[in-house]
Amino acid sequence: MDLDMKYFEEMEDKIPVGKVRTRFAPSPTGYMHVGNLRTALYTWLIARNAGGTFILRIEDTDQGRLVEGATNVIYKTLAECGLDHDEGPDVGGPVAPYIQSERRDTYGKYARLLVEKGHAYYCFCEKTESEEDSGGFDRTDDPCRALSLEEAQARVEAGEPYVIRQRIPKEGATTFRDAIFGDITVENKTLDDQVLIKRDGMPTYNFANVIDDHLMGITHVVRGSEYLSSAPKYNLLYEGFGWTVPTYVHCSPVMRDAQNKMSKRHGDPSYEDLKEQGFLTEAILNYVALLGWSPRGDIAEQEVFSLEELAKAFDLAGMSKSPAIFDIEKLTHFNALYLRAMTPEDFARAAGSYIRMAVKDEGLSASEIAALLQARCERLAEIPEKVAFFQELPEYSADLFTNKKSKTNPEVSKAMLEAAIPMLEEIPSWTQEDIHGGLTALAERLEVKNATLMWPVRIAAAGQAVTPGGAVEICKILGREETLRRLKLGLEKLS
Ligand code: GLU
Repeated sequence: MDLDMKYFEEMEDKIPVGKVRTRFAPSPTGYMHVGNLRTALYTWLIARNAGGTFILRIEDTDQGRLVEGATNVIYKTLAECGLDHDEGPDVGGPVAPYIQSERRDTYGKYARLLVEKGHAYYCFCEKTESEEDSGGFDRTDDPCRALSLEEAQARVEAGEPYVIRQRIPKEGATTFRDAIFGDITVENKTLDDQVLIKRDGMPTYNFANVIDDHLMGITHVVRGSEYLSSAPKYNLLYEGFGWTVPTYVHCSPVMRDAQNKMSKRHGDPSYEDLKEQGFLTEAILNYVALLGWSPRGDIAEQEVFSLEELAKAFDLAGMSKSPAIFDIEKLTHFNALYLRAMTPEDFARAAGSYIRMAVKDEGLSASEIAALLQARCERLAEIPEKVAFFQELPEYSADLFTNKKSKTNPEVSKAMLEAAIPMLEEIPSWTQEDIHGGLTALAERLEVKNATLMWPVRIAAAGQAVTPGGAVEICKILGREETLRRLKLGLEKLS
């Protein structure tokens, strides 16, 4: 089993050097959870801040967990978020392929190299796949560990099934440095001889990530803190090969509450769920950026950041070690800020489909309805419920006509509607100006406050107490005919 050393030299020669290179390395699960989105964002920001290269790598070695179409979800999400990658499966690059299942041969070769170097060994023990996957198996006394290389190779050549395990030194300690968590030292005897290559020839994540990060020239490995405990084993792998260890940037977890990490399985929203709930991508990104990173200096108080501003401001020193709690109220606050800041046209575009969920009648202008909503809505998904009355007058009780502040009761409201109906039938054109002018002039003639007239008109037009927009705007949108029909129905209710 002679190793072709030239292959390794050629692989080394391909590694780009001299620039910051980061990678986002998701497993295709079919959705993007918030913690992953934040990792993607920070990884992208570190690259962009340094004028470096951002790489997308798909980690699909766990073939049992593959989900159909899941890779597309990753592309779509990154594109939607503006986290563009310079290298990746779809755009190629100097160290392709960027999909782990297509790099299978590479891992096998490097595993054999590590065996030659004495930092890994063939293991023939029978055990279940799940143990191999997790690597959670104490193998320090594995009889295979003691086999000579010749003996082991003979058994491999005879076709005996095997895995390749990392040979962790029995003595001593390993220290690794993380940019956020500092130096961490562990006793080697607490580390297991983890599986590097599984029985089916596929690498474990724990092996593939080291090989790929090295061969792709990754300078900063950004990932969730759940990988911190494995980092000493990764360091031993880098050292075993004689490679430089990259800068580790482990991100503290995103939590649902003080005890629990956010998890899709426990019903916490993914990025896709948040989108469906009507949160804007920009608001989600802005909020997520601040979950675990804080601006400092001049911009310490700044809350709203565009992606470009983040790329300029982002620094490792601003990242936090403590877990961050995901607060949907805070996100809602950000979302409202972004909704208010949109141009009316952009808002109308974003709100349009939500309006049409409830208001099917194309005669009712979605952009006019949108104009009422922009200042009054925090999430787009609230819209259908808020505007359904335009499509259909809800059942409502005559009690709504009584309002202390507007000085209305059933008798007053009846008198107001009796006066408003003929006036609205007569006004020259159905514009906001004319409706407004007509109603205020009528209030003056009747010697009542504007509110005393507007209240019953709005209630009769909308059939509900709380509405986006006042009487004038609602009547304008409904059109003359429908407004009069509704006002007459209101009058009947009061008679
Ligand atoms: N595939 C791993 C995950 O999705 C990536 C970990 C890493 O970035 O190294 O959690």
